[in-house]
Amino acid sequence: MPELEVIIGLEVHAQMSTKTKMFCGCDNDAFGKAPNTTVCPICMGHPGTLPTPNAVAIDKAVLASLALECTINKENHFDRKHYFYPDLPMGFQISQFDFPLSEKGTVTYDIIDDSGKVSDTKVCGITRLHMENDAGKLTHKGTTTLCDYNRAGTPLMEIVTEPDLRSEQEAVAFAQELRRILIAVNASQADMFKGMMRFDASISLREKGTEKLNPRSEIKNLNSFKALERALQYEEKRLRKEWEDNDGPRKGDITVGWQDDIGKTRLLREKETADDYRYFPEPDIPPLTFTQEDIDAVHATLPKLPRAQKEDYMDMGIDEKQALQLVDQSDLRSIFDAVYATTKDAKRTSSLVLMQLLGFLNAEEKEVNDGPDPTKILELVAKIDDGTISANTGKDVLQKMVETGKSASEIIEAEGMQQISDDGAIEEMVQKAIDSNPKAIEDFKNGNEKALGAIVGFVMKESKGQANPGKVNEILKKKL
Ligand SMILES: [Zn+2]
Repeated sequence: MPELEVIIGLEVHAQMSTKTKMFCGCDNDAFGKAPNTTVCPICMGHPGTLPTPNAVAIDKAVLASLALECTINKENHFDRKHYFYPDLPMGFQISQFDFPLSEKGTVTYDIIDDSGKVSDTKVCGITRLHMENDAGKLTHKGTTTLCDYNRAGTPLMEIVTEPDLRSEQEAVAFAQELRRILIAVNASQADMFKGMMRFDASISLREKGTEKLNPRSEIKNLNSFKALERALQYEEKRLRKEWEDNDGPRKGDITVGWQDDIGKTRLLREKETADDYRYFPEPDIPPLTFTQEDIDAVHATLPKLPRAQKEDYMDMGIDEKQALQLVDQSDLRSIFDAVYATTKDAKRTSSLVLMQLLGFLNAEEKEVNDGPDPTKILELVAKIDDGTISANTGKDVLQKMVETGKSASEIIEAEGMQQISDDGAIEEMVQKAIDSNPKAIEDFKNGNEKALGAIVGFVMKESKGQANPGKVNEILKKKL
């Protein structure tokens, strides 16, 4: 057996985050809605209806293209892609064939090792990004099939990569980076659980050192990173065996389906060609034309991309693993950013948000968005900064905020946790500490500075941690 190399390319479908569908005014958020309730004659393909392209979807697809460093085709158009299937009410999909919205981009992505550190950085070419509409959803029950057309007409971006990926690990790392980018530019929520991002993966083998691509196996409809990884692993193994048995690569392309429950692929069909779809330009939608000014205007709105965000956090002194965690979790990031904007102290922010808050949330098995929001956390920070409570008490207050959902003020008030800063009260406690610890006082007078710690500790214990430690030190020194 020669040494073989794995060649992987992906086709990614991402549902776009728009209010309405791609070619009609129907609600684009069908999640949790009763079947066939977010539909109209346009997305149901009734005769005589006309599609109107969604301008927001087009702008977002341009923005996503620019984030993927693609070149926008200033003249492009929609095409009809014909196939007959019950999930497609029009009998064709409105897609883009020979003139896609954009082409020739790149995505730089990191390979993260088991310890959460970057072990390698790679680049994957993007062949094209085009827009189309999603099909409906079919549910098979025994011999019956139920159709839900709520999803029919949802704006989709199809992103096709070059065959630049060389392992399952690279395919998953690339897909995760792509997902981060689409979320960062708000082109898609890319919620995998809701099926907003789906993959078709092509895999083939070739002798290491050769250039020619051999016929491939395309795995359809992978809905999670785990499925992507497992399906590619399975298919690679199968193709290696096939190579061994036939003493060479397979002869033609095939399309297979991934069966997640049994962890195997199964043959769906020999590959169809573009001819089978009878593409022709969509006659009901005029071609899309962009001027350089149009593109520049969208480019000006391009936000900071995930890799740059991560660099910024690392420049603050946040470690790589935590920086990635912030990039990946927007709700956690908004809390972190709000606290940092107020405190300008990365170490303190990291301790409060990434250690304490996350720790308490984990203990309660709560998600970040079930916990206190940025406003509530900032109220707690203010209570610590104005001396109402100590940083130590702040930790207890935060724990109670996570447990009960109450605000810092409510908890401090109800539990009497205010810091004692009143001179008279502290003086009284300090005197009591001096009277109760003659040994420590004697040690201090004999030159042992550390003995003072025992006195301060006594006061803090007596006050249940509520005495202002600065004040305690100050008054104690005055008395001695
Ligand atoms: Zn509609």
